[in-house]
Amino acid sequence: MFFLEGFLSLLFPLNCLICHRGLRSDNRKYLCPACWGKIKLIEEPVCSKCGRHSSLSVCSSCQNQKRKYFFSKARAAGVYEGVLRECIHYFKYQKKAYLARPLGELLIDGMSSDEDLREADFLVPVPLDGRRFREREFNQAHLLAQVVSRYFKIPISSRNLRRVRGVPPQTQLSRERREENVKGLFLVPRAEEYEGRRILLIDDVFTTGSTVNECARVLKQAGAEEVSVLTVARGE
Ligand SMILES: [Zn+2]
Ligand SMILES: [Zn+2]
Repeated sequence: MFFLEGFLSLLFPLNCLICHRGLRSDNRKYLCPACWGKIKLIEEPVCSKCGRHSSLSVCSSCQNQKRKYFFSKARAAGVYEGVLRECIHYFKYQKKAYLARPLGELLIDGMSSDEDLREADFLVPVPLDGRRFREREFNQAHLLAQVVSRYFKIPISSRNLRRVRGVPPQTQLSRERREENVKGLFLVPRAEEYEGRRILLIDDVFTTGSTVNECARVLKQAGAEEVSVLTVARGE
């Protein structure tokens, strides 16, 4: 019994990931209710383009910028800070793949209130480059897409948006530099698969949107009718 418990606690932690308090055995969020409650969800009204909380229908940042969005809208469930940021870091960098479920449920909640997103023909996870995939052993966006796919019965298409090459980490770059950095990064080998289809891109975090925008550009070029974006978190 002792061994079994030890084994199970490796697979499913029995303590809250954030505050380490004991969890009820039926807890599948892996966070205690108090810590989970600290996640700051993005509330309506939001910018119709980028999805940040905004009283304007198009936020001032989207109005001011010169770049073109190739996606019709981006939506995120929560703000990338505090507990949610920590969870995403555990998920991505510490290989805590079981967090796909609670994080994926945040995406499900976001889609439940948005009919356009639910009408997608395909979920397309933003692809990782090969080196990062080998380091991490999974693509976090794909695991999130699986949770959403099971719930809404929308198929995943994960082999037709390809990453052509790796990029140096983007975190320190300005938006302009990021855009240059991602240019030509993706391709769609079989355009006919996306012809006239509505695609929902799935990723963990929307930062400047450069990566998803480049994905959207390539998907539209392949003939997709519409591309939307759904992420677990975004900056405020
Ligand atoms: Zn806790
Ligand atoms: Zn905006």
